[in-house]
Amino acid sequence: MSALRSLALILAGSAALAPLSGCGIGGGGPAFVAKYEPWRAVEERQCLASGLVRPNRFVASRSALGGPSVCGAEHPFSVSGTADGRVALQPSATLRCPMIPAVDHWVRFVVEPAARYHFGQPISGLKVAASYGCRPINHRYGAKLSEHGHANAIDISEFQLADGRRVSVKNDWNGDARARGFLRAVHRGACDTFTTVLGPHYDSAHRDHFHLDLARRGRTGNGHVCK
Ligand SMILES: [Zn+2]
Repeated sequence: MSALRSLALILAGSAALAPLSGCGIGGGGPAFVAKYEPWRAVEERQCLASGLVRPNRFVASRSALGGPSVCGAEHPFSVSGTADGRVALQPSATLRCPMIPAVDHWVRFVVEPAARYHFGQPISGLKVAASYGCRPINHRYGAKLSEHGHANAIDISEFQLADGRRVSVKNDWNGDARARGFLRAVHRGACDTFTTVLGPHYDSAHRDHFHLDLARRGRTGNGHVCK
């Protein structure tokens, strides 16, 4: 049975956890465990209907992702800038609707003020280490499908300041006092907006980036992880 065929069968079947093989990445791509979660489409449609996200110079509509699989999004966007375009996303991130106001809120109310406080200058860009990808968590064969598989996550590895300085999670998490203070402030501040925030203190897979997502956790869906 082809990978796509088995994915389609899972979608048509139960909501129980089931092993899926691949997702069209690289032929025999990594297997992951996933389940059909109806809240995702409901949440995406509510976000779209709210009018909170509209295409503009920095936010472009793109076609549905995923096809007949548990991966993807119905109406994703390619996002090349945030905070009214003051802050570039490099390269552009592919995100589902709810992630776009979340990133915007974090940049406006946490990242920009932290850059002014710690460096006395604006921030001009964020380096996007990953956004959409139909893959297991940490690319680990057989692990649960990552929020990246729903375009519901973004990885940020570097912050570019107006003067050209680059502050990276990998090199500066334990760097000079200003960079350390800035990176800890933007990491901690992300926890008010995103439900999952992982950085170098979480595990070695996150030593070089912050992972931010809007996963639903726990019985209420409001559980947070901030590490
Ligand atoms: Zn990630």
